[in-house]
Amino acid sequence: MSEKIYGSLEEEISVLRKKRHAVILAHNYQNDEIQQLADFTGDSLRLCQEAAKTDAEVILFCGVHFMAETASILCPDKKVIVPDIDAGCSLADMVRPEEIRQWKQQHPQGVVVCYINTSAAVKAECDYCCTSSNAVRIVKVIPKNKEILFVPDFFLGTYAKANSGRDDMSLWRGYCPTHVMIQTSEIERLKAEHPQAEFIMHPECGCLTKSMHLADKITSTEGMVKYVRESPKKEFIVATEVGILYRLRKDNPDKTFIMASEHSICSYMKMHTLEKLALALENLQPEVKVAPDLAKKARVCIERMLALS
Ligand code: SF4
Repeated sequence: MSEKIYGSLEEEISVLRKKRHAVILAHNYQNDEIQQLADFTGDSLRLCQEAAKTDAEVILFCGVHFMAETASILCPDKKVIVPDIDAGCSLADMVRPEEIRQWKQQHPQGVVVCYINTSAAVKAECDYCCTSSNAVRIVKVIPKNKEILFVPDFFLGTYAKANSGRDDMSLWRGYCPTHVMIQTSEIERLKAEHPQAEFIMHPECGCLTKSMHLADKITSTEGMVKYVRESPKKEFIVATEVGILYRLRKDNPDKTFIMASEHSICSYMKMHTLEKLALALENLQPEVKVAPDLAKKARVCIERMLALS
């Protein structure tokens, strides 16, 4: 339909983006063609910050559902739309708000820190939010006489615990299926094959405990982009979702990247397509809108994080 009017889907999206006064945010795990036309690409924290300061009327969020919810919480006056409303997150689905309430009853003095990969309803029950780039910093600001309840990613929690010196952390047992499949044996094999390569790792990786000592850097996707840009090395073994390759290659055409697992593909992140982007901009839906009462409660832990970031 639209290709009869426009030369290409990219052109259609570009025209609609202006017509709708929209900004397009894309997570680092999105398909290449979406990252290519986005106004901003980044990890959850960077996209949160861009959402908070945009003056666009519409935010087209190419990520997963909890990210669009976060944008809606931070920008209640904007219209937040997504290309595919079914793009969720298995990790975020591993904890429900009633489970947090129960956990708090069992630990009445506990301070709950949630990874940003949680629903708005879960965030509303938590004290602090964090991302993979600031989890250690957030955990460190919590007074030492308070027990910390960390939810939902067990491996990020393990990393934050090991690097904050906080032994009094209880960890939820959630995990990301995309990162949990990355194996230490494969990392060891790749390191032996590429002895000059630096190894960079996302803290959601299921082999974190066994592989932590092998890593030159453990960081978020945005942290990886920065680390590689500044490193004098030419070869990198990368343990995270494959979508990160787009930015790493674009920013560093002279460097080589080897994925720790070619199969680390988040099927939710890959649900968005250019056709769906164009349709979303045309129809201004599907919309993600967090109800004002819930948004007010969920905003507290996000704003505490942003103030510390
Ligand atoms: S990669 Fe894992 S944590 Fe990230 S959106 Fe996909 S399922 Fe969720």
